[in-house]
Amino acid sequence: MIGLISATAAGALARDRLATAWPGRTRVYEGPVADAVRRAFGECEQVVCCLATGAVVRILAPLLSDKGTDPGVVCVDEGARFAVSLVGGHAGGANALAREVADVLGASPVVTTATDAAGIPGLDTLGMPYEGEVAGVSRALLDGEPVGLVAEVPWPLPALPFTVGEPGASDAALVRVSDRLVPPADGDAVVPQVVLRPPSLVAGVGGSRGVPVDEVEGLVRDALRDAGLSVRSLAALATVDAKATEPGITGAAARLGVPLLTYCADELAVVTVPNPSDAPLAAVGTPSVAEAAALIGGGELLVPKRKSVRADGSPAMATCAVVRRAARGRLAVVGLGPGARDLLTPRAKDELRRASVLVGLDQYVDQIRDLLRPGTRVLESGLGAEEERARTAVAEARAGHAVALIGSGDAGVYAMASPALAEASDDIDVVGVPGVTAALAAGALLGAPLGHDHVSISLSDLHTPWEVIERRVRAAAESDLVVTFYNPRSRGRDWQLPKALGILAEHRTPTTPVGVVRNASRPDGSTRVTTLAGLDPEAIRSVDMMTVVTVGNTATREIAGRMVTPRGYRWQEEPK
Ligand code: SAH
Repeated sequence: MIGLISATAAGALARDRLATAWPGRTRVYEGPVADAVRRAFGECEQVVCCLATGAVVRILAPLLSDKGTDPGVVCVDEGARFAVSLVGGHAGGANALAREVADVLGASPVVTTATDAAGIPGLDTLGMPYEGEVAGVSRALLDGEPVGLVAEVPWPLPALPFTVGEPGASDAALVRVSDRLVPPADGDAVVPQVVLRPPSLVAGVGGSRGVPVDEVEGLVRDALRDAGLSVRSLAALATVDAKATEPGITGAAARLGVPLLTYCADELAVVTVPNPSDAPLAAVGTPSVAEAAALIGGGELLVPKRKSVRADGSPAMATCAVVRRAARGRLAVVGLGPGARDLLTPRAKDELRRASVLVGLDQYVDQIRDLLRPGTRVLESGLGAEEERARTAVAEARAGHAVALIGSGDAGVYAMASPALAEASDDIDVVGVPGVTAALAAGALLGAPLGHDHVSISLSDLHTPWEVIERRVRAAAESDLVVTFYNPRSRGRDWQLPKALGILAEHRTPTTPVGVVRNASRPDGSTRVTTLAGLDPEAIRSVDMMTVVTVGNTATREIAGRMVTPRGYRWQEEPK
């Protein structure tokens, strides 16, 4: 029962609207307000007070005992513009009630508990069929309690709350990812469980002309059930082209709610199967239809060919075989931005929470470790192991995992995306998440240095011969491009930056603005605007591998301490 209390005429109006909207669910408490609130709190599961939060807090404070058992309390303001979840947000259901109240009154729900405010995805947003104790598991998710994740089938999952991870003793709920009907015996699990059904199963089917829908559908369902498999994990039926319009087969696919995949006989004939036979060879030109069509995409044969059984004992008209296909892995190449947490994009955060495997340089992993779900496998390595990191990330994705390969700034800029994608084949999904690259982070600090055509050049000659770098610097100098130097200088590489600046100086005046930004967006960051002439040997010694150097073009000016490159030469007067 929901207790309703109001004090003013406007409050009574809101109260009555709720009572009318929810017949049988509410009880109006009249009389002196404080007394009414106390009685409702003692007698109802939930209370809506059309009263100031302050008043309700003072009245209820002495009565609060345990957030697990106290009623949920929602306050509605005088203008009925807000429904505030005051106490008992989760167990008391006040968060949900605030939303319901808001719906009825056309108000905004105000929910201040962390997990709700952070937009924890509901089970229904995970994009997979699920079953089990949904309410209990959802509550644990919303409460931010630890939830164990048991992936019996490795399958890339959508972004999960960071409370979901490796199973542990304190779990308040369990999420299984499985295509099996019965969980493996796990002792006396008492926490609520849901099972997510990945689309992992393919049923190959064959059928004689005129096979009834019931016979095909029944055979597929029986084959799955007898093997202990869930029909909700069925991703597709598969058969030979010649059966693409056989009504019994297309009808079964429709009833099962899955697509029908068809392959030509020649493709199926070359698939190695345990139970080839002559009949289909004669009829459609391949020694196997059901097994071959199920196995053609690879995977594990869980149910070898079986035939339908007809009530009247007549010959079977349908065959079926079931394969668990390998999960299609996912490789997310994620740029973390220059360092500051608020320059990490929401999409990057999602990908990190989605990953079951994280691959990256140890110092970048440290930057985002708190965003990972517990149980995320972290494969970190030190500087220099780029190729190995790329190979590892791709191999893990091929094994069916959701992998995040991280890099600072943008992962495609002098970073991991290219070595990884050079390794990757088309059997995995690849997504790139752009990040704020150092040139942009530095540009924002310097002013507007990149307002016209610009180029980035890495001065690292570890992978690129110096002649090539020099040729590019010269080309940039001659074509009057703004230049940002990445990897400008390290202990072992100290002559390249002066050399490159020298080349630019052949084409630009000594007063050309130069920006030097170290550790952009990080707490110890520094930004300096100087000139080509001002960047003397001593200034150059302060440049290191945490720095980018941006050199203006012939139109770039220092204005009020900021570096500004005009967008064009025509529409703007030459600044004085
Ligand atoms: N993928 C990175 C670049 C990697 S190359 C990106 O997109 O930013 C490494 C070089 O990037 C460093 O030597 C330095 O020149 C530059 N860099 C990276 N982060 C930086 C930061 N926060 N501030 C200044 N320069 C940075």
